[in-house]
Amino acid sequence: MNYDVIIVGAGPGGIFAAYELMQRRPELKVAVFEAGHALEKRHCPIDGEKIKSCIGCKSCSIMSGFGGAGAFSDGKYNITNDFGGTLHEYIGKKHALELMQYVDEINLRFGGEGTKLYSTAGTRFKTLCIQHDLHLLDASVRHLGTDINYIVLQNLYAWLKDKVDFFFDTPVVSVEIAENGYEILCADAAYHCGECIISVGRSGSKWMESVCRSLDIPTKSNRVDIGVRVELPAAVFAHLTDELYESKIVYRTEKYGDKVRTFCMNPKGAVVTENTNGIITVNGHSYEDPARQTENTNFALLVAKHFSEPFKDSNGYGESIARLSNMLGGGVIVQRFGDLIRGRRSTPDRIEEAFITPTLNATPGDLSLVLPKRLLDGIIEMIYALDKVAPGTANDDTLLYGVEVKFYNMEVEVSDKLECRHKGLYIIGDGSGITHSLSHASASGVLVARDIASR
Ligand SMILES: Cc1cc2nc3c(=O)[nH]c(=O)nc-3n(C[C@H](O)[C@H](O)[C@H](O)COP(=O)(O)OP(=O)(O)OC[C@H]3O[C@@H](n4cnc5c(N)ncnc54)[C@H](O)[C@@H]3O)c2cc1C
Repeated sequence: MNYDVIIVGAGPGGIFAAYELMQRRPELKVAVFEAGHALEKRHCPIDGEKIKSCIGCKSCSIMSGFGGAGAFSDGKYNITNDFGGTLHEYIGKKHALELMQYVDEINLRFGGEGTKLYSTAGTRFKTLCIQHDLHLLDASVRHLGTDINYIVLQNLYAWLKDKVDFFFDTPVVSVEIAENGYEILCADAAYHCGECIISVGRSGSKWMESVCRSLDIPTKSNRVDIGVRVELPAAVFAHLTDELYESKIVYRTEKYGDKVRTFCMNPKGAVVTENTNGIITVNGHSYEDPARQTENTNFALLVAKHFSEPFKDSNGYGESIARLSNMLGGGVIVQRFGDLIRGRRSTPDRIEEAFITPTLNATPGDLSLVLPKRLLDGIIEMIYALDKVAPGTANDDTLLYGVEVKFYNMEVEVSDKLECRHKGLYIIGDGSGITHSLSHASASGVLVARDIASR
C-alpha cells in the first residue's frame, strides 16, 4: 500500500503532524501507525481494589495508544524554552515559542477553551526563591487537566479519522530505505511512503535505537534524571500552585554541586505508576474537575546525572536503579521523610498513622537501599531548601515515592528541520531525544508537517 506520508506513533508529535498536514495539504494520503490501542480502548487495569499494581500488559495503556504517553497526563502544556526540550536549539527560541502557542490555540479550539493559563511573569515567588538559593524558571502553563486533555484528544481524533488512515495495535517492526521513499514493515504487511515521520516517544526508545543502528543514523546519549515523587498536603504548596500551578524550581546542592529540580507538579493530584519497557516507576497527574481532586499535591524531585566517556548507557543506569526498587518493593516504594532521615524503613503502620493519606498504594520501604547516596543526599538537601519557601515540605509525614526516573532518549542527529541524514525521514518528539514534553513534542510535529507540506 502506498502513502505520501507515514507517521509512526500517535502521541502528541504524531497527532499534530497529521493535523498540520491535513490543514495544509488535505490531498495528501497519510497513514498513522500506532503500537497501542485507539483512545476509547485505552484502560489501565489497575483499579486499586482487584488489581493494585502493574500487571505488565502487552501494550501499556498509560504509555501507548492514540494520545501517546500524554493521554492520561495532567495535560500541562508548558509554553517555554526553559525546560521541556531543546527544540529552540534547532529552530531558534522565537520560532519554537510561536509553534507552542499555535499548538495551544488548537488545543483551545478542540475543547480546551476556558482552561487556565498560568504564568511566572512578574511573580513575587521569583524573589522569594532566589533569597533561598532556589531558582524559579520562566514559563506559561496551560493546564488542561487529565479530563479536558482527554476531550481534546477525542475531538482531534474525530476531526482526523476520516482524513487520515489510522492503524491501531500495529507496531511498526522496521523502516527500510526504498526507491523513492521508505518501506514501513509491520508484522503482516508492508507499506510504502514518500516521506516518513517517526514519533515513537519514550515507550519506543529501544525500537528507535534499533532503527538508528540499522539505518546508520548517528546518536548520542549521556543523561538520565533520577529521584522521587514527593506527596504532601495541598495546603503546603497552595500559595505557589494557586498562582503558578506548576513551579519549576532548580537548586544546586552544597555538598556535590549537583542540580536538583522540581518536575511535574500536580496540585490536588494523585501519584500513579508508570511502566516503561517493563520497569515500574512513579509519576503523577491531577484533574481539572474539582470533584476528582484530592487533598494532596505531588511533584518529582529529580537529580540530573550526566555521564562522561567511556560510560554510554545512562538509561541503563536509571533502569538498574528502578529495577532495584521493583525488586525490593514489588513495584514502587513509599517512605515517610521522617523515616528516611532517621535511617529506618517505613512500615504499613507508620504510613497508616501519618497525617496524610497516600494516593498511590505503594509498598512501604526504605529508599536509602535503592537510591545512590549522592542522589539521596541531593534530594534531602532540596527538601530542606524547599521547606524555606513552602514550610511543611520537610515534615516527617511528607511521603516520598521511588523511584521516579526521567529517561532521555538518545539524541538523534537531525537537521534544523528535524530531518535525519536520510532525505524525507523525520525524527520528532520525545523519540528524537530533542523534546521531553507535550508542548515541545506537539510543536515538533507541526514543524515537520509544514516542511513536508511546503515541498
Ligand atoms: C503519566 C505521565 C504524565 C505526563 N504529564 C505531562 C505533562 O503534564 N506535561 C508535559 O508536558 N508532559 C507530560 N508527560 C510527558 C509527555 O506525555 C510526553 O513528553 C509526550 O507525550 C511526548 O509525545 P511524543 O508524541 O513524542 O511521544 P509519546 O506520547 O510517547 O507517543 C509515542 C507513541 O508512539 C507509539 N509507538 C512506539 N513505538 C512504536 C512503533 N514501533 N510502532 C508504532 N507506534 C509506536 C507509542 O505507543 C506511543 O503511543 C507525561 C508523561 C506521562 C507518562
